[in-house]
Amino acid sequence: MTGAAVTRALQSVGARVTVFDRVDSAALQELAESGAEVLVDPAELPGDTDQVIVSPGFRPDHPLLAGPLAAGIEVFSEPELAWRLRPNDTPWLTVTGTNGKTTTTTMLATILEAAGLRTTAVGNIGVPLIDAVLDPEPYDVLAVELSSYQLHWSSTLAPAAAALLNLADDHLSWHGDFARYAAAKAKLWQFPSTVAVGNAQDPRVAALLATAPGRAVGFTLEAPLPGEFGVVQTLLVDRGFTADPSQAFEVGSVTDVRPPGPHNVANALAAAALARSHGVDPDAVAAGLAVYRPEPHRNAFVAEKNGVTWVDDSKATNPHAAEASLSAYPRVVWIAGGQLKGVDIAPLVGTVADRLVGAVLLGVDRAEVADALRRHAPHVPVREVDRTDDGAMTDVVAAAAALAGPGDTVLLAPAAASLDMFGSYAARGLAFADAVEKHRGS
Ligand code: ADP
Repeated sequence: MTGAAVTRALQSVGARVTVFDRVDSAALQELAESGAEVLVDPAELPGDTDQVIVSPGFRPDHPLLAGPLAAGIEVFSEPELAWRLRPNDTPWLTVTGTNGKTTTTTMLATILEAAGLRTTAVGNIGVPLIDAVLDPEPYDVLAVELSSYQLHWSSTLAPAAAALLNLADDHLSWHGDFARYAAAKAKLWQFPSTVAVGNAQDPRVAALLATAPGRAVGFTLEAPLPGEFGVVQTLLVDRGFTADPSQAFEVGSVTDVRPPGPHNVANALAAAALARSHGVDPDAVAAGLAVYRPEPHRNAFVAEKNGVTWVDDSKATNPHAAEASLSAYPRVVWIAGGQLKGVDIAPLVGTVADRLVGAVLLGVDRAEVADALRRHAPHVPVREVDRTDDGAMTDVVAAAAALAGPGDTVLLAPAAASLDMFGSYAARGLAFADAVEKHRGS
């Protein structure tokens, strides 16, 4: 979708566009019909290339990029292109971080709508960013999710305000190492005109926030210091955008935050801070948070049977996300495994060991998870499902049901990507819900 939107945008400004992909497809042929030159699995790019726009699949060390980078040709991502082609001054409020981006971005869009603004949530969501930017009817403000991949390939993008939610080990095999991953995320705050919104309780984020050249606004789950957003009893409180430091605005209530859990309260505070930086009234922030409905596969309730609750957090594709969701339940049968993407799972297992009453493992890296459980949670009974076909989830659910007792939660929070067995995290979540449904019926 994004590649096609990029091609159309470039053609609209008169560029000669060559599109390349590893495999041929109907979508690629459509672009050929629109006048683009199409290359399938080329060995190198055309010699007269002036600029390269890459999709997130391209690692910085991708062989096709070596030539252009050595020749000093600019390589950038869709958000950077959208920024350069933007025809108006619509402000961008952006969200990045290891986890919580989509949740926070959609929360933000709901708040902005509650304030009567014309907006949309873009990034990994809905229409491609570049289509929203070039929409003939300009938006008042955009809620933009940005990934570390996209930020790696950006340079001039200057959001009005940018939130950094958290920084944990993820996508390390793509970036090379953690320092480079963190550097990509911190690019968002490189301009003094950008209000920097950052998680004051995440030491890596707090360190970056302290060096941001623009106005810095921290958020915390504790009582906020002057200049911060935080929580006082059950209220979400703004002490960041007040006229004097003794003042505080109420911007919502913890009990209204969906999905439940401390990490989503943090997401709500970040969304509130971005909205307040744009001048949204505190009451409109609270109203937006109260009507927000979560995206699927993020701590979604699936079923309750015989006192056992089944929860789909298929979107927990790395240990940091899985830790947030495991921490929300006292007794968990944990369904985990998939592609670990080079990340060490052992620290997570050590942290949540006390909560685990069982584990069911699937996917290509399940042996690594099993090994971590043996070493750091030896009391936990572990079942491994070796099947990788369409019926694998049926076995997973049956094994989990056998391990769970009344009061327990069976939680799909795999801490790993799904692509070894499923088309997407959504397909994995749907297969889980389907298998739970059928198991209940049997
Ligand atoms: P992203 O777009 O960054 O992948 P999502 O909003 O889709 O983030 O949430 C992905 C998963 O990350 C959720 O299912 C949940 O398990 C976890 N999560 C959400 N917010 C946070 C947070 N602030 N900190 C840690 N984990 C989180």
